[in-house]
Amino acid sequence: MNDSPAPVAAGRSCGTCTLCCKVLAIEELSKAHGVWCPHAKPGRGCAIYETRPGSCREFHCGWLVSEGLSEAWFPASSKIVLMYVENGVVAVVDAGRPDAWKAAPFYQQLKAWSAAFLQHDRQVLVRVGDRTIAVLPDEDADLGPMAPGARVIIETARAPTGKTLYRARRADASPAQ
Ligand code: SF4
Ligand code: SF4
Repeated sequence: MNDSPAPVAAGRSCGTCTLCCKVLAIEELSKAHGVWCPHAKPGRGCAIYETRPGSCREFHCGWLVSEGLSEAWFPASSKIVLMYVENGVVAVVDAGRPDAWKAAPFYQQLKAWSAAFLQHDRQVLVRVGDRTIAVLPDEDADLGPMAPGARVIIETARAPTGKTLYRARRADASPAQ
């Protein structure tokens, strides 16, 4: 979850959305990602709102903080929880709708971000359940499950035409010595 959440954008509120209570892991509750929190009242809110864990209090998804993102990105309907992270964007998709990120306007936006971000060593990743997918300008690289400590590495190559090609691979953490 975010370390220092950006402020909620004017006119935005969670309303009927509770999707982050399903798709994100909550360490304090030992709740895995992809399953509803036992305290969630889907579509209505949190049964322990006043005493919810710190990570829940601090979390603001991308839609909540970005006036520039259209209403289409409202997580309850898009089925995508966007997270702005230090090195780019992670779109966490409800595994009950695993292809939600491929629909318009989401896929086109993810591709546009990818083309722009890669020039600044930033990444656009999609997470669906245990899978991590790197969205690249010319392909989507399904890197499978990421073990703890694993990272996504983006490499470049030059096509015969001179065009820059991006390829992604998973770098697993080194085993402890
Ligand atoms: S996903 Fe975003 S809008 Fe939905 S409940 Fe979480 S923070 Fe609120
Ligand atoms: S404690 Fe409340 S806010 Fe936190 S994940 Fe569970 S239902 Fe959501």
